[in-house]
Amino acid sequence: MYTILPLVLSEHRVENGVMNGISHNQLYLDSIPLILAVDRGGRPSQWIDWKRASAYYISDHILWTYGEPIVTLRGGTNRDGERSTLAVHPIVAVSGADASRFEDQTIALDNRALFSRDNFTCLYCGERYRRSQLTRDHVFPQGRGGQDVWENVVTACAHCNTRKGCLTPEEAEMPLLALPFAPSHVEGLILSNRRILADQMVFLAAQRPNKRGGAINETPCVDFII
Ligand SMILES: [Zn+2]
Repeated sequence: MYTILPLVLSEHRVENGVMNGISHNQLYLDSIPLILAVDRGGRPSQWIDWKRASAYYISDHILWTYGEPIVTLRGGTNRDGERSTLAVHPIVAVSGADASRFEDQTIALDNRALFSRDNFTCLYCGERYRRSQLTRDHVFPQGRGGQDVWENVVTACAHCNTRKGCLTPEEAEMPLLALPFAPSHVEGLILSNRRILADQMVFLAAQRPNKRGGAINETPCVDFII
C-alpha cells in the first residue's frame, strides 16, 4: 500500500529525477513521460500527465502500480522536518476508472498514426521510408467512392501511390502486403504516444488483439528506454 505523504502541489519540483537509470540534476517537467492509467482489472483507459497522476496519489485513488518509478516529486516539509516525496509509477490503477467505456473508441485517422500503424512501411513495395517520403493511399480510390477510413487507407511510398493511381490493387496488380484495419483502443494508445516506456509497452502489447499481419510496430519511437 502506498503511503500518501503530505504534499504541497505548488511547491512540487522534480529533483534527482530518474529516467533510463540516469540521474539528472534538472529535469524539465514537460519531459516526464505520460503515465498509463488503467482500471482495477488492469484494462488500459488513457494516458495522463504527472500532475493528474499526482492528484490521484494524493487523493488515495491509486489502487496499485506497476513498474519502477519514473520520477520522484518532492513536496513541502512536514512538522518533523522531513520532506515529503512522491514516487510516480509508469502504470497506475485508478479507483473508479472504467476502461470499458473506451473500448469502442477509435483514434482519429491522421498520417502520423497511419504510418505508425503500418510501421512506416509502404504496403505495396514493402520498403520502409521516412515519414516525409510516405503518403496515404486509399485502397479503393476516393475518386471512385472509396472512404477515408482506417479500413480503406494504407501507407504507401510516393512512387507506389503514383503508380497505383486511381486503380484498385487488383487492377494495378499491386497486391497489399497487409490488410488495413481500424486500431483497437489499446492499439490507439500505442499509436498516440511516441514516448512509451518499456514497462508500458510490454503491458499494452500483452493486451492487443490477436496478432495483426505486420502492422503496428511493437517497439515504436521510444525516447525513454528503461
Ligand atoms: Zn512503395
